[in-house]
Amino acid sequence: MSRRAASAGSQSSLREANKALVVTTVQRYGGLTQVELAAATGLSAATVSTIVRDLLAAGVVDTAVTTRSGRRAQMVTLARRVGLAVGIQIGHRHLRVVLGDFAHEVVAEQSLPLPHEHRSDTSLDRAALLVVDLLERIGSELDEVVGIGVGVPAPVDTSTGMVSVPGVFRGWEGEHLARVLDKRLGRPVHVDNDANLGALAESTLGAARGYRDAVYVRASYGTGAGIVINSRVHRGFAGTAGEIGHVQVDPQGHICRCGSRGCLDTVVGSAALLEPLRASHGPLTLRDVVARASGGDPGTAQVVADAGATIGAVVAGLGMAVNPQCVVVGGELAETGEVLLRPMRDAIRRRVLLNQIAPLEVVPAELGARAEVMGALVLALQSADVPVRVDDVGDLEPAEPAQVGDRRDRDDQDDQEDRRAAVG
Ligand SMILES: [Zn+2]
Repeated sequence: MSRRAASAGSQSSLREANKALVVTTVQRYGGLTQVELAAATGLSAATVSTIVRDLLAAGVVDTAVTTRSGRRAQMVTLARRVGLAVGIQIGHRHLRVVLGDFAHEVVAEQSLPLPHEHRSDTSLDRAALLVVDLLERIGSELDEVVGIGVGVPAPVDTSTGMVSVPGVFRGWEGEHLARVLDKRLGRPVHVDNDANLGALAESTLGAARGYRDAVYVRASYGTGAGIVINSRVHRGFAGTAGEIGHVQVDPQGHICRCGSRGCLDTVVGSAALLEPLRASHGPLTLRDVVARASGGDPGTAQVVADAGATIGAVVAGLGMAVNPQCVVVGGELAETGEVLLRPMRDAIRRRVLLNQIAPLEVVPAELGARAEVMGALVLALQSADVPVRVDDVGDLEPAEPAQVGDRRDRDDQDDQEDRRAAVG
């Protein structure tokens, strides 16, 4: 091979490498302006501009005019024809599924109530059927799905996609979640803990966007945290990083599902929150407590505020270990807003070192109740292999977004169904 041919070859492989770098950078953030792309990749503005033009011609990216700091800018996103991804959140009492594209736009979504202590086989079955149903609604097919992200309320061994600690999510241990869904749907499946996914979503799209180090706290039927270090979710060796629900807060307390004594969840988990209200308020669901505390009922607000103080003290300890720039709070209890957040913030601000340079921000999740399912979607999108050439992309017709009604109406409906299911 002549020197000129060799040099042409290395130039073309450099161009391909730069192209792949631009694609993976857009994939990671969902959408960036050309100026932001140059900053994020370290490539020159001219190189980025040439690559974007090539990728646009290859059908891999779309561009749109936007404004940044009052100036016109070209926003680059991966094209819809590159594919869709699925996010699934399996909660203690509900199932949520979203379909979204590489720009993190949700094109269809649905949630369903699940019965108390639902079983893995029937719930995974419902999840798979719901995915197919949503695809049908928007006129798409499974071939267009690049991957499926799944969140569960338990630590997960991401190498096997299985719940890694027994007892924490009853009826789900030993279940090969990823294998079951892959068998049903035939697409790559990625499973993670729901709080980790909330952290991923909030740091990619929500309140922690732009922070390198952050903690996401999920205060729900149980409590968990997702830790973002250097813009990556830290899962730990066995996937139990951030499992603050199992930090001991009462050495003389009750035995927890995990087998230890006096875990945070034995004090602020749903059973512990509902029990002291039984005599005064009768049997309530967690949703009832959230609704009443938000509506100003002093008894339920007291229970949520006490939980906030207890969770805050544990998060302060985690904060000492991680030194985050912000703490984002999601999960059902966070829907009470400052009822939960103020005592949490007070407990965290009491730790002097944590607030040395500036008071540590404690803010609600920007994505609200969708944080975890959006994280599942982001996980699937970030894990996908994106082609850089048009001939690698299947000949797919972009589908129209589904008309699935107003989201708020549907969530209210879900709450009502949840209550009916809890009563029945
Ligand atoms: Zn425990």
